[in-house]
Amino acid sequence: MKGMRFSEQVGYYGGRFVRATLAFAVCAAFLLLFWHGWFPDLRAPGADMRRVMAATVLTGLLAFKIAARVRTAERRRTARREALSDAELGLLLLTTVYLLLALSGGVTSAIYPMVYAVVSFLVTFHRLSVGLPLAAAAIGFEAVLSFGPNAAPDAAGAFPGHVAFIAVFALLNVVFLHAEVARQRRERRRRLEGEVAAMREEAREFRLISTALSSESRVRSRDEEQEKLSQGSIQTIHQQLYYNLALLRSALELQTCALLWLDESGERLKVKELCTDSSQVVEGSIPAGGGVLGAILKERHPFVLESPRLSLIPYYAGPAAVGSFVGVPVVEGQVPRGILVGDRAGGRKFDEPAVALMTSAAEQVVRVVQSERVFQAVERSKHEHERFYRASAELNRALTLDQVYNAAIAGARGVCDFDFAAIATYDAARGSHTIRCVVGEAADKLLGTSHKDPSSIASMAAKNKLALPAGGEWRERDVPVFSHPMRIKDYESLLVVPLIVKDQVIGTFTVAAQRPAAFPTDRREMLGVIANQVATSMQNARMYEVVEEQATTDGLTGLVNHRTFQERFSAMLGRAERRTFSVSLLLTDIDHFKKVNDTYGHPTGDEVLRRVAAILKASARKIDITARYGGEEFAIVLEGTDRAGARQLAERIRQEVSQQSFGSPKGNFQATLSIGVASYPDDAREKAEIIARADQSLYAAKHGGRNRTVCWGDMDRGKLKVAAAK
Ligand code: GH3
Ligand code: MG
Ligand code: MG
Repeated sequence: MKGMRFSEQVGYYGGRFVRATLAFAVCAAFLLLFWHGWFPDLRAPGADMRRVMAATVLTGLLAFKIAARVRTAERRRTARREALSDAELGLLLLTTVYLLLALSGGVTSAIYPMVYAVVSFLVTFHRLSVGLPLAAAAIGFEAVLSFGPNAAPDAAGAFPGHVAFIAVFALLNVVFLHAEVARQRRERRRRLEGEVAAMREEAREFRLISTALSSESRVRSRDEEQEKLSQGSIQTIHQQLYYNLALLRSALELQTCALLWLDESGERLKVKELCTDSSQVVEGSIPAGGGVLGAILKERHPFVLESPRLSLIPYYAGPAAVGSFVGVPVVEGQVPRGILVGDRAGGRKFDEPAVALMTSAAEQVVRVVQSERVFQAVERSKHEHERFYRASAELNRALTLDQVYNAAIAGARGVCDFDFAAIATYDAARGSHTIRCVVGEAADKLLGTSHKDPSSIASMAAKNKLALPAGGEWRERDVPVFSHPMRIKDYESLLVVPLIVKDQVIGTFTVAAQRPAAFPTDRREMLGVIANQVATSMQNARMYEVVEEQATTDGLTGLVNHRTFQERFSAMLGRAERRTFSVSLLLTDIDHFKKVNDTYGHPTGDEVLRRVAAILKASARKIDITARYGGEEFAIVLEGTDRAGARQLAERIRQEVSQQSFGSPKGNFQATLSIGVASYPDDAREKAEIIARADQSLYAAKHGGRNRTVCWGDMDRGKLKVAAAK
């Protein structure tokens, strides 16, 4: 309460407290008065009227509280405040009842059963946390009236009986209440399930959803989607059918016009749509076999009856006046679907134009159902095409193999639900599968493992270029998916699809689900299409990797090329600046290499380049950059290495190369290296400058006599301080 002075706050909260506890205080006061026997039996002579006044005040308070409760019931209140208010009211009610008892002779009064009624009411209509304490309070009142100093003489004897009754009333009401709530809940659930079942049955009867799908116990999200679609279609069908029937009825002046539809067994007819004056049309189904209806279905042509016996027209459950009847079959292709019937109460016969109209209406019925079915199929395939399109676009965008794997899994999720998926590459020469991507059980353990079991499902799928197991049901549980120690357990459905590019199996795509029949034919087909695309995308990603590799490496030596060297060197210097570590650059040049070419030939020169490159590569660490800088010049960038470390490594390389013997048709020969070194940040900070200083050091090494290492920092004012010992 902002802006209130302290004294005001005391007043405000004090007021609230008094209001909140008033009823409890009144109740306690009355208990005290009961104890002292302040309220005598009014029937006794000379009763004190002041006490009657007190009773009137209490009753007034009760009425006021009830009014307040009713007034605030509409407003939003917190559960706690509501419980408190209920408890107050209950206590006042009990106080009033016991007061009435006291005034009419105590607990043995004739109006005593009122207590039971009030306790029952309090327990039934309040939550348990309020009702039960109120029942206990009633027992408290009971005790005061029975054992107080001024209690009636036979009150104590009645106490155990009263308490037992109060307890039984409270208990019975609690039990009854809970049973009733549970019953209502059950009832509601049953009704809901009934409606869903009826809806599904209708969809099945109109052949909107396949039987296998609708009989499935667990509804999946994709199936729900279809169910929603069916629901819309059913409504549309009903609307159109009703419109047709209403039209027929008014055009032909029919008493009843009904569409009787064959159920799935084909043995019973159900009133699917109805337009009638009569209240006697059956609600359930009728046998399709006998009578005129059976004949219409069998003969598949219209029937007209004059003044038929009612037993011939079984769609009336009770007495109906039927003067004439017409029934025409509803046939879809060659399959009878139902009968369109009409009758007139009067004697007017159905002439030929009327029968023709009924027949064309029956054809219209079939068209309505068919077009809805087609519409639904189109809608469904639209959803699926969308998902396909997304998966395929995602796969097309994937450049690296990891991106392909992830897009493949996401794409497969778009068309079916699975609990496990794995993509493995297949090495046909070795017959081995290597798992590259897994989601689901034991994914961490499986990732990267290789399997070579020729009897595994994956091997069979790769060998036969077929998706296995054939039906998507994993029957032969002894056959492993990849190899024996590795088993995918507890799955009812499995599918291993080979990934094929240009007739070559390059891998497998495995999906598994715990529920049975997770991969029916249409899902398998879709997964097959996705698998084809995955295979192509994997091949593309591999080609992309090759192209990338070609673009960054030198073909002769396998080292990174000049452009990549420049990029990576820049990146490393950036890191070195941020994290303050040294970087050293070694530039090497083979001595008198022209002579090698001239003497032993260009191919031998190439071989020298390859071997020197291999020595450089082996000497450097993974984090370093070893590059063909150009011609017979190589560069090594050493991360976290200063001049001293670089000099040491340069010397080791120089010595190793000088110890090599190169063979040629013209005999063996040796080669030597000159090396220039510059270091960041000691010699220079800019990349171009570092390269220039290393180059100048290399030049110095050449001029110093070749086969040596020169570090920029070791050069003394133009005079060359040669680091290498000859
Ligand atoms: P120096 O000691 O001064 O370096 O003498 P050098 O003969 O090595 O002179 P230079 O570095 O100018 O010569 C480079 C030679 O390397 C010229 C070229 O024919 C040869 N060369 C460049 N690239 C290749 C290659 O890919 N294969 C072969 N076999 N030779 C190459
Ligand atoms: Mg050169
Ligand atoms: Mg050279």
